[in-house]
Amino acid sequence: MPIVRVALDIPLATLFDYTVADDIAVAIGQRVIVPFGRRQMVGVVMECVATTDVAPERIKPVVQVLHDSAPLSAELLDLLRFCSDYYRYPIGQTVLSALPTRLRSDKPVISKPILSYRLTASGVALNLDDFPKRKVVQRRILAKLAEQPCNLAQLKALSATVGGQLKALETEGWVESVALTPSHISSVRGEQKHTFDNAHTLTGEQQLAVDAITQAQGYGCFLLHGITGSGKTEVYVHLMHHVLQHGGQVLLLVPEINLTPQLENYFHSRFPDVNLISLHSGLSEGERLHNWQQAQNGVAQIVLGTRLSVFAELSKLALIIVDEEHDSSFKQQDGLRYSARDVAIFRANQRGVAIVLGSATPSLESYHSAQSGRYRMLKLTGRALAEARLPTVRCVNINHTVMHHGISENLLREIGQRIARNEQSLLFINRRGYAPVLMCTSCGWLSDCKNCAGKMVVHLKDQRLRCHHCGYQIRVPHACPDCGNADLHPVGSGTQRVEEVLQERFPDARILRVDRDSTRNKRAWQAMREQIHANEVDILVGTQMLAKGHDFPALTLVGVLNPDSALYSSDFRAAEKLFAQLMQVAGRAGRADKPGEVLIQTEFPDHPLFQALQSHDFEGWAASQLAERQMAGFPPFMFQAMLRAEGMQENEVYRYLHDARTAAVALQHPVEILGVVPASMPRRANHIRAQLLIQAASRKALQQFLRAWQPALDALPAQKLRCGLDIDPLEF
Ligand code: ADP
Ligand code: ZN
Ligand code: ZN
Repeated sequence: MPIVRVALDIPLATLFDYTVADDIAVAIGQRVIVPFGRRQMVGVVMECVATTDVAPERIKPVVQVLHDSAPLSAELLDLLRFCSDYYRYPIGQTVLSALPTRLRSDKPVISKPILSYRLTASGVALNLDDFPKRKVVQRRILAKLAEQPCNLAQLKALSATVGGQLKALETEGWVESVALTPSHISSVRGEQKHTFDNAHTLTGEQQLAVDAITQAQGYGCFLLHGITGSGKTEVYVHLMHHVLQHGGQVLLLVPEINLTPQLENYFHSRFPDVNLISLHSGLSEGERLHNWQQAQNGVAQIVLGTRLSVFAELSKLALIIVDEEHDSSFKQQDGLRYSARDVAIFRANQRGVAIVLGSATPSLESYHSAQSGRYRMLKLTGRALAEARLPTVRCVNINHTVMHHGISENLLREIGQRIARNEQSLLFINRRGYAPVLMCTSCGWLSDCKNCAGKMVVHLKDQRLRCHHCGYQIRVPHACPDCGNADLHPVGSGTQRVEEVLQERFPDARILRVDRDSTRNKRAWQAMREQIHANEVDILVGTQMLAKGHDFPALTLVGVLNPDSALYSSDFRAAEKLFAQLMQVAGRAGRADKPGEVLIQTEFPDHPLFQALQSHDFEGWAASQLAERQMAGFPPFMFQAMLRAEGMQENEVYRYLHDARTAAVALQHPVEILGVVPASMPRRANHIRAQLLIQAASRKALQQFLRAWQPALDALPAQKLRCGLDIDPLEF
C-alpha cells in the first residue's frame, strides 16, 4: 500500500505517515483528512513514499482525500519547507499557517464561482438618460457594463455598495451573471490585452528604472530607492503593465492593511479591466479563500496584500514588488516569525523572476546589499511633479521655548498661520491616550500596570487607565491608592491631550485625531481620509498610522512632538526606525504645489540624525550608521537569532535559557553566544520574559549552528513556558 507523509498543525518538527488504499488516487499537495490521536485533522500531503519507519500495526489509513480545492504546487511546498527550516518552525505548522482558514478546516470548502456580470437584452435597451439620476451607483454599473462584462472585483472599484445595487439590477432583469471557469478566463485573456491608463510620461529616472527591471533576465533583486513623491508608484504601474501584457501575475506586498483599499482603488483606476484582488487579514474567511483561489488558478492578475500574501499560490507569478520594504510590519512577531520581504526574495529567486524593493528610506540591510552589488540599486532623486519641492526641516529646542503640554509656542504659531491660509497641519506623536502615566503629587505613586512592567495610560475621554501591553484597565481613581491624596496629575502628553491643547488655543479649528482608538471602527479611517481630502480638517493629530503613504495635498506643516526617546534607546535599530519614520511624515508635507515645512521638537537639535534630516541626506546618514554597525558588530554585518522564553515562574524561564545556553556553548560552533538577559519588556501580562542572543558572521554559520542546537532545545523541559527562536529578530 502506498504511504503518504502528511504535514499537520502539530508543534513537532516532523511529518506524519499514513497509508492510502490502492484504489484511491492521491497527489502531492493535496489536502487529506487523517486520524490523529482521538481526533481527525486536515493535513497536506508532502511526499508519497514506499516505506515507513512506523510499525505496520500502528500506521493508520487516510480517512479522506479532499478534492474541493486544487493541490498546492510543488513550488509552494518547497517555499514552505525552506521557511520551516530557516525560521526553525515545525513543518506542519508552517504549511498549515500559510493556508486560508477555510482550507485548514475539515469541512468541505464550497468554492464560489467567479461571476461575470453583463447586461441583459432589456438592460441593453435601457436609455441611461431616462434612468433616475439619484440612483448614482446603478447608473455607474450600467454604464460600465455597457462597455464590457465585468466581475465583482472590477465593479467594486465603482462603489463600496456595489453588491446590493447589483442585486437590485438583477432583480429588475437588466443585469445577469454567468459563472466563469479558469479555462474560460484564460481563453478570454488569451490575447493579453488590457486597458492601461498611461497618465504620465515617465521621468528620465523612472524610465531607467522601468527599463532595468523589465530587461532583466530571470531572478534579480532591485532596490528602488526613491525620495517621497519621486513616483515609485508610477514605476510599479509601468512594471505591472509590462507583466500583464505578457500574461504574468504581479504580487505587490504592502505593509499596512489600512493602505490596501486606497491602493486597490488606485490600481483599478489605472488598469480598469484587470482582475485585481487583495489578500489580508481584514477579509472574511470566504473572501480570503475566494481570492486565494483566484491567485492560485491565475485568474487574479494583480495580487495586492499584506505580509501573509507572500504565501499565496501564484501560478503565473512574474514579478514581486515590496513597497516600503523597510517597514517592520513585514516581520511576523509570533508563530512562524518570518520576514515577508526576505521570503519574497527567496520566492523570486526560486521562481527566477525580478523582485523590486521600494522605499524612500531603505532598511540598512537592503541598502548594504545594494551597495555591495548583491542587489541592483535604482535611484529616483527628484520629485516627479516639478513644482513639488522637498519640505524644509527645522528643529525647535524645547529647552529654549515655552511649552504647552508638549507643544511648543513656535509650533502653535505656525499652526495658526496655516489655519489662516486654509492649509492643513499634522502633529505627529507616538503615544495615544491622554497622558502616558498618572502620578500622585504627594507620594510619587505611578499608575503601574499590575500585570506588566509598564505604566497604565490615562484615557480621559472614557475616564480610564489602560495598559497598552496587556489591555488591563480600571477607572481613573479619585484619590491616590497609596496615600489618599486627591491631587493626581497626568504626566506627559498623548494624542488626546494634544487635541485638547489645540482645541483650547484654536477654538474654531476643526481637529481630527487619528490613532488606534479613533479608528477602531473599520470604516472610520476611510471616512476620515475623505474628510481630510475634502479639506474639512484643519489640524490632524496622529500616531504613526498617519505617516504611511497617504497623500494629503493641502497639508503644508508637520510637527513632530516627542522623537527623542529613540535617540537613547537600547534597541540598536531605534535610530534607523526614527529616521525612516520622520522622513516619511516629512514626506506628507508639501506634496502638491505648496511648499511644506517640518518642525521637530527636540532637546538635541544638533544630533546627527536631525542634521541629516534637515539636509535630506539619507546617503550620509546610512553611511554613518553602517560604519557604526560594522564597528559594533551588528547587522547587516552580523546575523542574529534570538531564543525567547516567557512564563509565570521566573526561575523556570531563566533555567530554560541558561540550560539552552550551556548546550549552545558545548557545540563549539563559530558563533557568538551572548548572556541570558531580561526582555526589553521584562514582565507582560504576568509573564516573565527573557532572551538569549546568538550572532554569527554569516547566515550559513548561523544556520548550521541552529540546526545542531535544535535537538538540545527540543530535549529541554519547557511545558510551562512559551519559547521559540526568532531568526533575524527586529524586536529586542
Ligand atoms: P512615491 O510613491 O515615490 O512617494 P508617488 O508615486 O506617490 O510617489 O508620486 C507622487 C506624485 O507624482 C503623484 O501625484 C503621482 O501621480 C505623480 N507622478 C508620478 N510620476 C509622474 C510623472 N512621470 N509625471 C507626472 N507626475 C507623476
Ligand atoms: Zn500618593
Ligand atoms: Zn499590562
